[in-house]
Amino acid sequence: MAGRKRVCVIHVGGTIGMTRDAQGVYVPQPGFLEAYLGKMPELDLDYLPRIELVVLEPLLDSAEMRPRDWVRIAETIVARHDDYDGFVVVHGTDTMAYTASALSFLIEGLQKPVVLTGAQLTLAHPRTDGREHVITSLVLAAREEIHEVCIYFAQSLLRGNRAQKVHNRDFVAFSSGNLPALARVGVHIQVARHLVRNWVRDQAKAEGPARVVDIQREPHVAAIRLFPGLGPGMLERMLAAPLEGVVLETYGAGNAPRDEAWIAVLEKAVRERELVVVNCSQCHGGAVDQRDYGTGLTLARAGVISGLDMTPEAALTKLYCLLARGLSPGEVREAMSRSLAGELTAPVTD
Ligand code: ASP
Repeated sequence: MAGRKRVCVIHVGGTIGMTRDAQGVYVPQPGFLEAYLGKMPELDLDYLPRIELVVLEPLLDSAEMRPRDWVRIAETIVARHDDYDGFVVVHGTDTMAYTASALSFLIEGLQKPVVLTGAQLTLAHPRTDGREHVITSLVLAAREEIHEVCIYFAQSLLRGNRAQKVHNRDFVAFSSGNLPALARVGVHIQVARHLVRNWVRDQAKAEGPARVVDIQREPHVAAIRLFPGLGPGMLERMLAAPLEGVVLETYGAGNAPRDEAWIAVLEKAVRERELVVVNCSQCHGGAVDQRDYGTGLTLARAGVISGLDMTPEAALTKLYCLLARGLSPGEVREAMSRSLAGELTAPVTD
């Protein structure tokens, strides 16, 4: 009989491992997760993989995370990639979708499952959702058919770069508006084999060992959510140098005001400064189609790239990773329209 699988648990922070401090607010508690895991009898069962815990200090509320934390997590995974069957990243929920997206672009040649999880209620709470999340994430991280970065939360395994945090009170905190769950967890665990990125394993082998992309610099990227009344003057200030890439979160199918002065501001930044502007919808589901409405077509004419059905989280982290690698604005524009890690669906033309 084959021995037990091995999963590396990387503790980054989040509510799951927090306790209340002297002021009564939740803060990450060093040592708490280790102590909790030490008291879980399930972890001795052969049903679960053996675990080893790596704590990334200081533990963070994910609202405090920065791009360099994504890189640190990616490096931690890559350094241990060949020693484990999979990885569970214990993380706060607030920016989990950003970290999951970033990891999917930062790690090349990934051949193992990387499952991010967290909780709405700390493990110290009797009704915590975290205990089941940790246990099921361990099971999923030991599955051989998954070789991508995912989020496990509330009975669903989602592709990390397709997920968004949609609730801060319900246990169902994440949803993926444009891709069904990669696995559903009930009495049985049902992996949607037609959705997981099966081909990655072969491609990764051909491409060589798992590695973190070469980060050459810290780029300036931002997201701007449109709202009625965002005038050209304010937009111009938002797009000012040193900004190099921006996710424009537009209405509906990718629409923005057709106001000439407003469009001129965008066009000038694209043409004169080679600002990379990516159009993503504010809607949780659906796709941007810049040919659908006059308001979208105007953006295309101004040089704005369609973000298709990417989430703003995926688009922002993708922009960051591409620019950080030192790619030229032209190369970044080209790569933004292509799927690098299953983050977008090629448009169907009818
Ligand atoms: N603020 C917390 C965090 O993201 C929320 C959570 O974990 O649910 O770290």
